[in-house]
Amino acid sequence: MGSVERIQKVAQRVAKWARAGYQVVVVPSAMSGETNRLLGMANEIAGDLNTAKSLREKDVVAVAGEQVSVGLLALALQAQGQPAISFAGWQVPVQTDDSYTKARINSIKTNRVQDELNEGKVVIVTGFQGIDEHGNVTTLGRGGSDTSAVAMAAALHADECLIFTDVDGVYTTDPRIVAEARRMDSVSFEEMLEMASLGSKVLQIRSVELAGKYKMPIRVLSSFTDPDIILQDEAQSGTLITFEEYEKMEKAIVSGITYSRNEAKISVLGVPDTPGIAYQILGSVAEANIDVDVIIQNIGKDGKTDFSFTVNQSDYAHTLDLLKNQVLSKTGAAEVLGDNKICKVSVVGIGMRSHAGVASKMFSTLADEGINIQMISTSEIKISVVIDEKYLELAVRSLHKAFELDKVPQ
Ligand code: ASP
Ligand code: MG
Repeated sequence: MGSVERIQKVAQRVAKWARAGYQVVVVPSAMSGETNRLLGMANEIAGDLNTAKSLREKDVVAVAGEQVSVGLLALALQAQGQPAISFAGWQVPVQTDDSYTKARINSIKTNRVQDELNEGKVVIVTGFQGIDEHGNVTTLGRGGSDTSAVAMAAALHADECLIFTDVDGVYTTDPRIVAEARRMDSVSFEEMLEMASLGSKVLQIRSVELAGKYKMPIRVLSSFTDPDIILQDEAQSGTLITFEEYEKMEKAIVSGITYSRNEAKISVLGVPDTPGIAYQILGSVAEANIDVDVIIQNIGKDGKTDFSFTVNQSDYAHTLDLLKNQVLSKTGAAEVLGDNKICKVSVVGIGMRSHAGVASKMFSTLADEGINIQMISTSEIKISVVIDEKYLELAVRSLHKAFELDKVPQ
């Protein structure tokens, strides 16, 4: 939705589906850069003022981008002879809770949308926004139109939710780092959920969670193809996020390598090795609303132990400060150290459940490259390591090669 011309192309693509007999609901995002521009003005005036009252007004400003998009897209469809009607979130309504700037959808009333569909119209509904029970407009957080689209698809019991985006699907890893990265025809929902939470930016994580809850298949596909591409081809393009193993499902042990530069490590050294110490340290961090990711506690020696964990880069300074000034003295720890020059690299694959040896292959690959592993965390379908950020690209490249992700699995 970058320009008027692009909107006309979107309309062409949508009209093609409608003319083929599909009932189509479109959830466009704002025109590119628009949400940043709007919030930029809001922040220029209100600065960091994040009281409930100011957050309410920031949402009032932020929803304007989508309001413009839906109207323009409806006009573009009408101009091409395709009946269409637009709705803002509050008109549907898309009912949310009242957490401004990060609201959650509670329910979507579909009568009005369904009636318009039955009259042969394309229905266009704003992404990213909803309304709380007191009639205030809310937004779902940045990137929230993915979530709006999946929620709308689920509420309408759609066959599929197509997410047109600036990449043409989900890749085995970031193609900007590994030229041999391969687009997957399909990926399981569980893998996609791990990838989204481990740093892959293709979809907002909440949209994937929602798709899981309602078993709504999502297809990620490019918005840059020729809008007149043959419908059957378009319907098979991109990457399908699936729930059931079907015969075409790829049988790889590892499906993808993801990374995140957004990590920082905090170590608390010389902590008395006594019950309750993890709670004392992490409890205060949690109380400050800081999310902790990977955690390790070393084996105690002489009644003392070391304790390390990672937080988001944006919480780094705050966490260090909190530990140095409040927790250190309380716990009797010797020292708090921080390192924000780290990154997290993960291998993801449901095949790990039934195959041993993924971890050892990962570790030996990194060892061969001389990359030191600082922390490890695992789940049933992923292994993550924390390493020095200067090795990020080397690690991703060598793992992609070691797990043969450039080759189509048999
Ligand atoms: N326009 C909103 C944003 O930039 C929502 C979205 O694009 O998904 O965050
Ligand atoms: Mg978006």
